[in-house]
Amino acid sequence: MSKLKRKNFIKGIAAGTIALPFVIRGLGGGQSAQSQSAPGVITNKKHAWRMVTTWPPNFPVVGEGCALFAKWVNEMSGGRMEIKVYGGGELVPALETFDAVRNGAAELGSGASYYWLGKAPAAAFFTTIPFGMNAQQANAWMMGGDGLKLWEELYSDFGLIPIPGGNTGFQMGGWFNKEINSMADFDGLKMRMPGLGAKVLQKAGGTPVLLAGGEIFTGLERGVIDATEWIGPYHDYLIGFHQIAKYYYSPGWHETGSVLEVIVNKDKFEALPIDLQQIVRTASYRVNHWMLSEFEVKNAIYLEKLIKEENVDLRKYPKDVLAQLKIYTEEVVQELAESDPFAKKVYENYRQFMKRASIWANSSEKIFYEELMSS
Ligand code: CA
Repeated sequence: MSKLKRKNFIKGIAAGTIALPFVIRGLGGGQSAQSQSAPGVITNKKHAWRMVTTWPPNFPVVGEGCALFAKWVNEMSGGRMEIKVYGGGELVPALETFDAVRNGAAELGSGASYYWLGKAPAAAFFTTIPFGMNAQQANAWMMGGDGLKLWEELYSDFGLIPIPGGNTGFQMGGWFNKEINSMADFDGLKMRMPGLGAKVLQKAGGTPVLLAGGEIFTGLERGVIDATEWIGPYHDYLIGFHQIAKYYYSPGWHETGSVLEVIVNKDKFEALPIDLQQIVRTASYRVNHWMLSEFEVKNAIYLEKLIKEENVDLRKYPKDVLAQLKIYTEEVVQELAESDPFAKKVYENYRQFMKRASIWANSSEKIFYEELMSS
């Protein structure tokens, strides 16, 4: 990536107010045209919808996924439904996505439920929790377990319908300018770390620092922070963290497979003809799969680049450090669950599902990886 391209990329991130992530223009657009017909009845009426997102304009993979979602809905509906996609700040500020869809300023949104933790503590579980499920398990919980049902129950109170609409896959532990050999190395460590991971870092003696996406690079370069997590090899490479940090730590214990969401205004959705309702759901499931696949492909390519071309020093967190961070995580998640009855209900369901899924994984995949994939 050229210096100019990287500069524009970082600028793009700065335009959004949040940690993660881009917008691509959707197709057509304009004012919403609510169907005049009875709900569920198939008509030839055209629907022009808007999708607001929490992602900075032109954010790789995630923003691309939203543009594809709009394209697929348009194609599947034979042009009866057009969705215009907006980056964070283009129609409403990034973190107003939830409220904009709730109050009907936009019909659709793309984000991550853990951004709405302040509105409902249970929202944390539908993206990821530290030491949580991986993408495969999270999808299984959503589609085959009670995950999506619980998520729908929570959002129903806000007049919204959630649909799984993306997954980052496993993230990386982050970029450090000092080694992590023991828990003592977290003492006073200033690290950019979002969400529940920040609370875990605090318990470990570190200082979580909140920096907007566009400030992280210079923050680390100038020593304002000692370390930062971001996403995975692809997005980390695009920002260029390898130029200013000594060590790249694995794994991303704080984000083990973050589920992203498509949110729909419930009244508007229910007024759609039944085939368009199914098209919106189907496009969302497709983008859920597409994003995870894209992350897996790009992360593998860019990890190789980082190691072979950039000579990045890839490190593993020591086992006892991870074990202690997991203990702190249990305290943090327990505190969250105790703060709200519905969060407790979701946590118990999540924990139960994960426990069983882990026994299965330990008896199958884990053995395979340990025995056959270690080299
Ligand atoms: Ca992250």
